[in-house]
Amino acid sequence: MTGGKSRRTGSAPFDRVAIIGLGLIGSSLARALRREKLARRIVGCDASPGVRAVAKKLHLADTLVSDAGAAVVGADLVVVAVPQSAYAAVGAAMADRLKRGAIVTDVGSVKQAAIQALAPRLPPETPFVPGHPLAGTENSGPAAGFAELFAGRWCILTPLSGTPAPAVAKVREMWRRCGMHVETMDAAHHDRVLAITSHVPHLIAYTIVDTVAALESRMKGEVIKFAASGFRDFTRVAASDPVMWRDIFLANKEAVLEMMGRLYEDIALLQKAIRNDDGKLLHRVFTRSRRIRRSIVQAKQD
Ligand code: NAP
Repeated sequence: MTGGKSRRTGSAPFDRVAIIGLGLIGSSLARALRREKLARRIVGCDASPGVRAVAKKLHLADTLVSDAGAAVVGADLVVVAVPQSAYAAVGAAMADRLKRGAIVTDVGSVKQAAIQALAPRLPPETPFVPGHPLAGTENSGPAAGFAELFAGRWCILTPLSGTPAPAVAKVREMWRRCGMHVETMDAAHHDRVLAITSHVPHLIAYTIVDTVAALESRMKGEVIKFAASGFRDFTRVAASDPVMWRDIFLANKEAVLEMMGRLYEDIALLQKAIRNDDGKLLHRVFTRSRRIRRSIVQAKQD
């Protein structure tokens, strides 16, 4: 498939796309697929009646169902966008109902766990393209989604050794048309990179905010009243969905624990520098960190 050709002929690259889970990511994808005319029909699936009611009101899909098995019938692309603790159940529900040749992809944040939960449940010939769009906000649910969520962000695909190249190319093209830069890597490498760039930072935010919450009430009031941007930024990150983040830490245990070990060592180094009035070391570390921030801004990922 080429994006240019589909645009010229007006034919959608996918006939029927089933999106399982219509939360922030699933609903944003539904909107982006519509905007880009990437699917002739969208079938939305969500276990929650409340979510389906909102999805209906927002016209997110042509058909809405509660069961993943019913959703995938006749679909040529299935996108799993539920919390990772629900992957095994979703995989089992849809396994026998997939059309032959249907591509299955997902958006889960921890790729080795996503593969372990889904791959054994899919028919062996199913082209499975695990994926992770690195885009999100602290909000959840279909009303929080928007088509531009993916614009200018990275999407990482972690195909298995047997995943057919044309299936990878189709999923890559879908995300590219949603505005993403797409890169392919090994699932274990993805999980280590994300442990330090996303998972541990979230853990730090949750910890700092929880520490403040545990302080006596007068102090707490003052912290909230005088919250300078540092603490305020942490509270935004710590407002992220608790189910999703519980699942991420349990699913990426090894990589997160390894990166936390490194972090503890570095914090201990700064602790020692402060105790010893070692301004030189503090200045050196802070200057290095500032350069990293500037390179992120330059790469338009801020
Ligand atoms: P979300 O807003 O909480 O939406 C998930 C939806 O899936 C909920 O409506 C949930 O219903 C539904 N669901 C749960 N179990 C189901 C099942 N068995 N069948 C059908 N629907 C089911 O979550 P999200 O933020 O979109 O995250 C979805 C996935 O994207 C996660 O795997 C996450 O790791 C990944 N991801 C998230 C972000 C982010 O920043 N949010 C970024 C990248 C990737 P209930 O509410 O009733 O449980």
